[in-house]
Amino acid sequence: MIKIYNTLTASKQEFHPREDGEVGMYVCGPTVYNYIHIGNARAYLAFDTIKRYLVYKGYQVIHVQNITDVDDKIISRAAEESTTAGEVAEAYTRAFHEDMTALRVVPPDVEPRATEHIPHMIEMIRTLIERGHAYEVDGDVYFSVESFPGYGKLSKRNLGEMRAGERVEVDERKHHPMDFALWKSAKPGEPSWESPWGQGRPGWHIECSTMSLEYLKMGFDIHGGGRDLIFPHHENELAQSEAYAGSEPFVRYWVHNGFVNIDQQKMSKSLGNIILIREILQHYSPDVVRILTLMSHYRNPIDFGTEALEDAKRAFDRLDECVFNLTDFLRRRAGRQPQPARTQREIVLTDYLFDAQRRFEEAMDDDFNTAKAVAVLFELVRELNVYLVEQETFETPAALAIVQHGLDTLLKLARVLGLFSVVEEQEECIPVSELGAEPAGVPGTDKLPHPQRLIELLLDLRAQARARKDWETSDYIRARLQDMGIKVEDRRDGARWRKI
Ligand SMILES: [Zn+2]
Repeated sequence: MIKIYNTLTASKQEFHPREDGEVGMYVCGPTVYNYIHIGNARAYLAFDTIKRYLVYKGYQVIHVQNITDVDDKIISRAAEESTTAGEVAEAYTRAFHEDMTALRVVPPDVEPRATEHIPHMIEMIRTLIERGHAYEVDGDVYFSVESFPGYGKLSKRNLGEMRAGERVEVDERKHHPMDFALWKSAKPGEPSWESPWGQGRPGWHIECSTMSLEYLKMGFDIHGGGRDLIFPHHENELAQSEAYAGSEPFVRYWVHNGFVNIDQQKMSKSLGNIILIREILQHYSPDVVRILTLMSHYRNPIDFGTEALEDAKRAFDRLDECVFNLTDFLRRRAGRQPQPARTQREIVLTDYLFDAQRRFEEAMDDDFNTAKAVAVLFELVRELNVYLVEQETFETPAALAIVQHGLDTLLKLARVLGLFSVVEEQEECIPVSELGAEPAGVPGTDKLPHPQRLIELLLDLRAQARARKDWETSDYIRARLQDMGIKVEDRRDGARWRKI
């Protein structure tokens, strides 16, 4: 049974979706006026993990995530770049997709764009006015927070205590300082649509209400986003949706991920420490970025400083190294029949593998505790490494089967967390013996041999040099290969290599 922390009830609750076996999840997508930073990326990674785990548990997940392609920020960006809002939105939507692909985030099932849903938004606003929840002033339409008794229930704010403070502009035209815009009258040169209140465009909050209700209907399962969205964005979404429907709940489970810090400081424009995800990906692999986010619970803050990134890199390398060692063990014994005869050691290890999977699920069932789940993976790595070392001294007949089981378990669980998600597509380190069909290079043509054949040739030469104790040549070959990103390791049964 999965338990989820629900921001609305401020407690962990057993997860019972509206429909058995099916989960409707809405995640607030990007406002496309800039490249996304790591704070944004953390949210998409958090909900990607949640989705992957729900799918692993057998749920069919319908993931809807909007693109906010009309907004003040897009309009001012267009003015800065002397282009149109449409072009800015188009360019940064493309950039967002590139970043998500680079991070190996599974795309949403539906990705509605705000500008494609304007008639629905107008319809919703009209209904809100009719029911006394909204009012028009000079072509602008505001939601009346006092008309909705539950206002503040998500962010735990009391309307009476909310005053027009530094974050809210005092506007004499509003009935209450917290009333927010559902529709904004157009200023010259801005993108606008025809409406009963004149030319204008929707406010940000109504966009998400309209699009989530359109695709998931009232009472859908999970609404996600960063915790900075709780107020006012999600509070307002909730108020206008429940006021519009005249029923509750709008959402069954409100899920919010924590902030991102940089070297213990909050990431903010004013501190000038905003880091784009594409900048990080120039230095670290998507798996390193992902494991960094996984090593903390999604609701906790995480630090994306250099030290944290280097820690994450070391952690991922440990995992990667183990996957490599297990794969290599099997590769070297390709074609051998696995022997069923297990010693006591293998019986214990098999039990351990099943137990690791159970503990992994237990951690993830507990409000997607990836920090604990990752710890289980690293325990698994330690156990499997110990077993591989033992096998170097004395290989037991059932080793093949247990190593395969270990590798399968490790990869299966790591992939639930989104790690190694493209490993199968990488063509690295195929043993030369399996390159049979690959042309070995034909003299007189421009067909070159497979690079792996050349690496194996160099390792042959190096082995010959070592045999005659020519350490200088041996070290030279290893160092040059290292420079080219090929790591050579000497083992009892010979040298082996891998790409680094
Ligand atoms: Zn939203």
